[in-house]
Amino acid sequence: MSTPARNIAVLGATGSIGTSALDVIARHGDNLRATVLAAGGKVDALLALCERHRPEHAVIADEAGFPALREGLRERGLATQAHCGDQALVELVSSQVCDTVVAAIVGAAGLASTLAAARAGKRLLLANKESLVLAGELLMQAAHEAGACIVPIDSEHNAIFQCLPTAQTGGERADTRAHAGLKRILLTASGGPFRGRTRSDLTQVTPEQAVAHPKWSMGPKISVDSATLMNKGLEVIEAHHLFGVEGERIEVLVHPQSLVHSLVEFVDGSTLAQLGLPDMRTALAVGFGWPQRIESGVAGLDLLAHGRLDFERPDLEAFPCLRLAFEALAAGGTAPAVLNAANEVAVSAFLQRRVGFLAIPALVEDTLAALPPTPASSLAALREADTQARRHAEQAIGHAAQAYRA
Ligand code: NAD
Ligand code: MG
Repeated sequence: MSTPARNIAVLGATGSIGTSALDVIARHGDNLRATVLAAGGKVDALLALCERHRPEHAVIADEAGFPALREGLRERGLATQAHCGDQALVELVSSQVCDTVVAAIVGAAGLASTLAAARAGKRLLLANKESLVLAGELLMQAAHEAGACIVPIDSEHNAIFQCLPTAQTGGERADTRAHAGLKRILLTASGGPFRGRTRSDLTQVTPEQAVAHPKWSMGPKISVDSATLMNKGLEVIEAHHLFGVEGERIEVLVHPQSLVHSLVEFVDGSTLAQLGLPDMRTALAVGFGWPQRIESGVAGLDLLAHGRLDFERPDLEAFPCLRLAFEALAAGGTAPAVLNAANEVAVSAFLQRRVGFLAIPALVEDTLAALPPTPASSLAALREADTQARRHAEQAIGHAAQAYRA
């Protein structure tokens, strides 16, 4: 069977997931076509991608980059139309130029375009986990109402998607939330670069050490999230929304080899897992091809060469971000939005060396305590919580610079 034809918008095209998505697309040139490429600010990188993939539209978030994008496209003799800003992106994602959207912008900045893709009923390859953490209920509701098929592009959630029987009977619109007999979800975590360290070992770690992930090559923000275990915390909340499972039925297991991408336990004692090499092209190929299987460029798994699979309990003392995420999920309302926003501010300050590594959980905890949850009744309420949390975390960094100093 041949790959179904897809016109694809790749949002976050210059990033780690965007690059992997374009690699898979290029392997299926007859059927998969990138019609929209969008990036934050790297005009040169975006131009190079336009030259290679010849999309109909290119979007740069940063207005200052627009003239360079437009001129660069003209100089290269490309027919690609240049755009800038979030509104242009939302309009393109909602239009007929694409039927499939790879949502791979990092952070809450991806919310508007991700939501637009869901509302427009597109096939949504969802990597932008922060949008689910921030507005999971609204996003899932919008997808449901518009008949959008969401395929998670997070290795763990993609694994769970593949293991759930309703996803397997799939069809164009696999509803990831309706499944009988599911008992628990077991999310695996690599443990990040600081696995095995105590809290006191972590006071002096640098951004370079934090982004050097042992198993996955990823963008800087998610790499730091992996080092604090906030990434796993965000993924717990992500799993709750995608699969309709409450926090008590989601367990985190540290699995340093990163070969078992997650497991699903059913009421009859069966546990299903998906395994593979740590390469996001597998998840992306699942997203483009589902319910068919298509080539991704990733080799199969040689278990004899790897030899063993280990599992450990996460250390919540050294890595409190995971606990904070479970607590925010249990608190509900605006708490996950506050957690996410405070974390984005803290990670960015850590990467800029304005605060130390342990300030990340401290800032998140402080912000959650300062802004008790209110009902997440509308997108406006969630955006307001996001804004307040960012302001609070920034002020806390300013006031307590001494305490949080790198
Ligand atoms: P990255 O930093 O490598 O890339 C981010 C992309 O987003 C870049 O193309 C950047 O230009 C773009 N961008 C940033 N701000 C923007 C804005 N305001 N408007 C438009 N574009 C903007 O990040 P990544 O590692 O590719 O991660 C992207 C998303 O995928 C994140 O939400 C991350 O959590 C998720 N994810 C990544 C991986 C991975 O293996 N990299 C795995 C699972 C989930
Ligand atoms: Mg993941």
